[in-house]
Amino acid sequence: MASGKRGYSGDDVSGSRNILMTDDDWRVQVKGSFTSVNDLSEAVPLDPEEKAGLAQVAKTFHMRVTPYYLSLAADPADPEDPIRKQCLPSIEEIRGGVHESIDPLGEEKTSPFPCLVHRYPNRVLLLVTGRCYMYCRHCTRKRLWKHRTPEPTIKEIEQALEYVKDHKKIREVVISGGDPLTLPTEKIDYILSKVDAIRNVESVRIGTRTPVVLPSRIDDALCEVLEKYDNLWVNVQFNHPRELTAQAIEACRKLQKCGIPVSNQSVLLKGVNDDPEVMTELCQKLQANRIRPYYLFQCDPVVGAYHFITSIWKGVEIIEKMRGHTGGMCVPSYVIDGIDGKGKIPVGPNYLVSMSSEGVTLRNYRNETFFYPNVQE
Ligand SMILES: *Cc1c(COP(=O)(O)O)cnc(C)c1O
Ligand code: SF4
Repeated sequence: MASGKRGYSGDDVSGSRNILMTDDDWRVQVKGSFTSVNDLSEAVPLDPEEKAGLAQVAKTFHMRVTPYYLSLAADPADPEDPIRKQCLPSIEEIRGGVHESIDPLGEEKTSPFPCLVHRYPNRVLLLVTGRCYMYCRHCTRKRLWKHRTPEPTIKEIEQALEYVKDHKKIREVVISGGDPLTLPTEKIDYILSKVDAIRNVESVRIGTRTPVVLPSRIDDALCEVLEKYDNLWVNVQFNHPRELTAQAIEACRKLQKCGIPVSNQSVLLKGVNDDPEVMTELCQKLQANRIRPYYLFQCDPVVGAYHFITSIWKGVEIIEKMRGHTGGMCVPSYVIDGIDGKGKIPVGPNYLVSMSSEGVTLRNYRNETFFYPNVQE
């Protein structure tokens, strides 16, 4: 394959952990992204049957993956590879599951505008684009790709922001999508400046996977823009320790140098990170790089992602094996996003064994139970 086009020097992606990008210009990565199974078969050995199957899947749920991200796979030809699972189509996506829904979180019902979800009284989700540098196979918003929802226009975003201005209780705007950092830097600046001008908005959060899938996009021009906003938070999505490469860490460090606290929201994914050891390693590596593990999401029952769903006990077990065994700053909240807009609900091991007016019986991380007296008010 044309290695120049892909922006790295290797001519073979297999066993590619040692492929170093010779050109970290993110535009080259975007141009060289794999967007069709044909394209992909130049780089990953696929047998004809597999190729036909994946092409069929990609018709329903399109693919896009940066050469950088694919190069993190130890073996992109291995369907069990945790990196491959997240980025390459799988025939399971079109098999279907019993509970799956196109919009399990009922986002469309709680949207005053197509690009605004207002579920909680004091915060909103602003969906500024449907595009991503990589289409994660487990994405909760696969419905946006399926319907190919058109990108909101600046006018529509401005209308949504008028609504935010009129609802004085809204104190936080979460900018998401798609991936907001796929927008041109000037447009990101424009949106942030509009949000910043709303007096009732105290805090702004960008949800993005860019540092994970295309770290070189966090360039100086973008940092110059982000640095201007002093109430900005960035939440990223690392799901596997292998994603924390030197480049990805550098991208997060650049954001941190802009004064932005970087937090992480992982999705619990079968065959990727549904293992206490993998999750502990991931969260400890995040902490070591000052990235706070914020949420661990139960994978939503969304169309095309059903095969990623683990048992809820798995999430509980992971938290149980982390809490107390490693620093509290490494332990995310395990949350289930309630069906139909019920909101995020923390679930986890139960440490409160029983309670009476005299006190509570507690259980610690070593599974010792003891009584703790209550103060009568
Ligand atoms: C997740 C989410 C938020 C933010 O919730 P936090 O618990 O503050 O992270 C806000 N609105 C919607 C619709 C969401 O899905
Ligand atoms: S980056 Fe986020 S919105 Fe985009 S495909 Fe991945 S999970 Fe979905």
